[in-house]
Amino acid sequence: MTKSIVDHNDVLSLTEQELGDLLESLGAPRFRGRQLFEWLWRHDAKSYEEIQVWPRELRERLQGSYPISRLSLVQSQVATDGTTKLLLAMKDGQRVETVLLPHRYGYSVCVSSQVGCAMGCKFCASGLKGRVRQLTAGEMADQVAYGNLVLHERSSKISRIDVMGIGEPMDNFANLMRFLELVHAPAGLNLSYRHITVSTSGLVPAMQKLADSGKPVTLAVSLHAPNDALRLKLMPVNRAYPLGQLIPMCRYYAERTGRRVTFEYLLLDGVNDGEEQAHELAQLVRGFPNHVNLIPWNPVDEHPFQPSPKARVRRFQSIVQEYGISCTIRRELGQEIDAACGQLRLREEEPVSP
Ligand code: SF4
Repeated sequence: MTKSIVDHNDVLSLTEQELGDLLESLGAPRFRGRQLFEWLWRHDAKSYEEIQVWPRELRERLQGSYPISRLSLVQSQVATDGTTKLLLAMKDGQRVETVLLPHRYGYSVCVSSQVGCAMGCKFCASGLKGRVRQLTAGEMADQVAYGNLVLHERSSKISRIDVMGIGEPMDNFANLMRFLELVHAPAGLNLSYRHITVSTSGLVPAMQKLADSGKPVTLAVSLHAPNDALRLKLMPVNRAYPLGQLIPMCRYYAERTGRRVTFEYLLLDGVNDGEEQAHELAQLVRGFPNHVNLIPWNPVDEHPFQPSPKARVRRFQSIVQEYGISCTIRRELGQEIDAACGQLRLREEEPVSP
């Protein structure tokens, strides 16, 4: 277990082993820890009252000192293609966005890792108000559990997790590690590390820690520009970790984990979508296992960018592919809802003026 500061009253953030320790410390048999873990993550228990097979005295004791604080729904938007955006409230009233995305194989869930974000990327609604607070591991895992509750009504469930919602997961590293262990645990949600993608704007030291963690998740790096000058204009993180550090760390990640790295590249009309920039991008990332994912820009009122014309997107893709690099264009899901990250939370907090 990665060392992290965890509130031991926050049972949703505790591993099966830690729940065993807790139950033992209360004089209950250790196996109750595994039972509680299963009740939390397989049966979505909201209260100890639901665990009727337990002695009443134990249930009451836990309810008093270790209440189960699950996420609650504030608002949801469902697009015709099934994309579902959830605005969920935490116990302190802060809100977080979670998105369910339909695929041929089932659903993926896009999990948020912070309330707001400190990274300040110029194209992102989430960074507009800065970082408010970190999410706990339990709050992150509960987004997956809540997604499963919604999908149960569609006879489906979550098969993949993308930690790509609001926040920079690497800026919440200890809780990210704990979250990965929680959702991977066989007694709980039981998701393979290989079905989990963690994104980053490029926090190089944390990327190395993830590479060395023994958790072979897919790493997705938000690149969005093929050179330092342009990337610095779009992503302030490039000042601390320029491409000369970022790309070698991506290579290290691929070598250490045996997983190819995904590069996310948002196409902004007239900003980073030219032919020369496509060549520059391909030359930057070639030489180790990776994949380039081109993302058509989804306009956000607060930002001035425009989407690239479709023909230019296809031309950009074909140039990158000429270098033998795997390159796809992301499907546009949920077009009619507030689909860019952070939009739903911002709209809910600040109603758009007529
Ligand atoms: S794109 Fe990601 S890292 Fe950048 S401000 Fe938005 S949430 Fe933060």
